[in-house]
Amino acid sequence: MTEPLRGIPASRNLSPRTRLGWRTLQFAVWFLGAGIFAALLFRPAVGLHAFWDVLIPLAPALFALAPGLWRNVCPLGSTALSSRHAGVSRGRTPSRRTQGRFALVGLALLLGIVPLRHPFFDLSGFATAWILAVLALLSVGAGLLFEWKSGWCSGLCPVHPVEKLYGRKPWFTVPNAHCAPCERCVALCPDSTAGEGKPGVENGRRLAATLLTGGFAGFIWGWFQVPDRTADAGLAHLASAYAWPLGGFLASLLLFLFLRERFPGWRSRLPRLFAAAAIACYYWYRLPALFGFGPFPGDGMLVDLRGTGAAAFVPLSRGFTTAFFAWWILIRPETARPWMIRPPFRVPERPAP
Ligand code: SF4
Repeated sequence: MTEPLRGIPASRNLSPRTRLGWRTLQFAVWFLGAGIFAALLFRPAVGLHAFWDVLIPLAPALFALAPGLWRNVCPLGSTALSSRHAGVSRGRTPSRRTQGRFALVGLALLLGIVPLRHPFFDLSGFATAWILAVLALLSVGAGLLFEWKSGWCSGLCPVHPVEKLYGRKPWFTVPNAHCAPCERCVALCPDSTAGEGKPGVENGRRLAATLLTGGFAGFIWGWFQVPDRTADAGLAHLASAYAWPLGGFLASLLLFLFLRERFPGWRSRLPRLFAAAAIACYYWYRLPALFGFGPFPGDGMLVDLRGTGAAAFVPLSRGFTTAFFAWWILIRPETARPWMIRPPFRVPERPAP
């Protein structure tokens, strides 16, 4: 891991005014999330568009540009950490081995849940609300048992592996608006440690990081090869909803491992290349799909621009997003910037003997 940039303090307490600003933002984003959840149940068409066609398409870019900002305001993160803020969490620090297991479970949740979008979640507000409720309950349980972010935000959360994959070179560092004081609950805390990928120090976390880095580009490509379920689709659709992304995952992972072995000199560049390929592949398909120009026109559409001559925008958007993320993740020099400034430790560090 690299040293933090000069000008970024090793730790900082929030002033009362800054804390109030962050709390206001956290509540605002939490209520927005609660509003989307209510819309999924009572106005499913609005809720599905707001969640799958606005919030989720913005998320990868936010992870790449400002992962610290996202992690300060994520509504599920705030839900998980509410018990710690209220002083009712048991505050256990998971062992390193448990942290590794959490990382593998988080990855399994990600790979298990995302393929279910085509058969269920993209089509049903109730199904999307149901999976969000299950994840919220899990996050609350993790927050009640474990110290600060060790249980959920840097543990079991299925989105966290993607934050680490894309958030390699954050644009800026923000103060940590949750953990005060820092209890050293995560070994090589991903929020406070500068450097790329943040694979951690434990075998489980390293394995999860390698699997996602190598496989995610193929997983995303495979996901976009499957249409949303139609009324007459049977079990074969569910099988293909898993087969394409998981097949793509495996092919991409094998390629990654082969290149890593064959070209040892590329070891630092290869993860960046695959991370850039994953996010570029996502926007390659997702941005045109928002306007009716996806691989299955009408799936994942926010506004229908078909028949307006707007198809010319498709190559432009693909060229721009691919070039941008290749530059942002692959070409730009490493910033050595952490996502967040660590709050002061509760127990000061012992001076070196
Ligand atoms: S900043 Fe400290 S308390 Fe917060 S997640 Fe990182 S190690 Fe845990």
